Amino acid sequence: MTGTAPAPFTADDYGARMERAARAAADAGLAGLLVAPGPDLVWLTGYAPTAETERLTLLVLAPGQDPVLVVPALEAPDAAKAPGAPGLTLRDWTDGYDPYAATAALLDGRLRGGASAFPEPPGRFGISDNAWAMHLLALQRALPGTSYASLTDALPMLRAVKDAAELELLAAAGAAADATFEEIRKVPFGGRHESDVAADLADLLRRFGHSQVDFTIVASGPNGANPHHEVGDRVIERGDMVVLDFGGLKDGYGSDTSRTVHVGEPTDGERRVHDLVREAQEAGFRAVRPGVACQEVDRAARAVIADAGYGEYFIHRTGHGIGVTTHEPPYMIEGEEQPLVPGMCFSVEPGVYLPGRFGVRIEDIVTVTEDGGRRLNETTREMVIVD
Ligand code: ZN
Ligand code: ZN
Ligand code: ZN
Repeated sequence: MTGTAPAPFTADDYGARMERAARAAADAGLAGLLVAPGPDLVWLTGYAPTAETERLTLLVLAPGQDPVLVVPALEAPDAAKAPGAPGLTLRDWTDGYDPYAATAALLDGRLRGGASAFPEPPGRFGISDNAWAMHLLALQRALPGTSYASLTDALPMLRAVKDAAELELLAAAGAAADATFEEIRKVPFGGRHESDVAADLADLLRRFGHSQVDFTIVASGPNGANPHHEVGDRVIERGDMVVLDFGGLKDGYGSDTSRTVHVGEPTDGERRVHDLVREAQEAGFRAVRPGVACQEVDRAARAVIADAGYGEYFIHRTGHGIGVTTHEPPYMIEGEEQPLVPGMCFSVEPGVYLPGRFGVRIEDIVTVTEDGGRRLNETTREMVIVD
């Protein structure tokens, strides 16, 4: 957690998000939403406690009700400064007091002047994926008969469609990641440890405005065949393919891009695999337009790789959403029938992973426009040769 989200969002923007979330909850048959510190709370209120403690902080949203933030008294002054605070009622609690009883009373209407919005028993609530189990268990004890759904399961598309200001922030984060790539391609690779190049990537992301670096994957030679390889002590050699995948948060919004470089001149075989992944990435991008199901983006990219006989070496989904986090819905994966909507923002990142040899992945963040897609990463997708 890194403080509150920055401008340009106003109290009205946050108010509109909270109202939209409460309405979406009702449409999904939920009595309300319980939002713990984390990405949903940041998106809904701009509030991120500086350190998350065992003390309960919980935003309670319900249709037709004013949003209430249950917050420890000692953190209330900070919460009151959050950009979304003007649209909230803060209900602070002190040590020695039972915050779960107070929250339970809120949920079943006893603290709402008798005008309970909820049927008895109080029903089913959506709760943040990352809420602590101890809080949820205590709420269940305090309110027998309630049931809970993970917020992402219940409302997967809550944060998926970005507004113009969010898209600008995502584009700026993408541009910063691009600037990082333009610098990293100039540094020496051969003879250095993967961890050295990863440290360079992190420094560059910060230099170009990232406040948080989420990952700096440098996977050289055979390590590139493992998409989850992060970074190790392997010394990069001349002749290696090197998968670079890096991103984090700039001004509260995410970047995530991959390019695969080669140390010195590649072989024809390496070039062919790189070209194939580039064509697959292009096909995935070309599939992006409003109304198309997410799985069609995956299918378009996968077909190129499968048709070339490498289908079994493309071992992950084609993409994931991005926003106030670097991985979130919507997912570009077989079986996801959610249609694309203008303003959605996600990665298109096919790869080929050849065990014991090398891997290639090319990843751009793409946003859905009225008539297609727009890339938020614009560095060359041709193979870059490094020293
Ligand atoms: Zn090579
Ligand atoms: Zn990535
Ligand atoms: Zn990604």
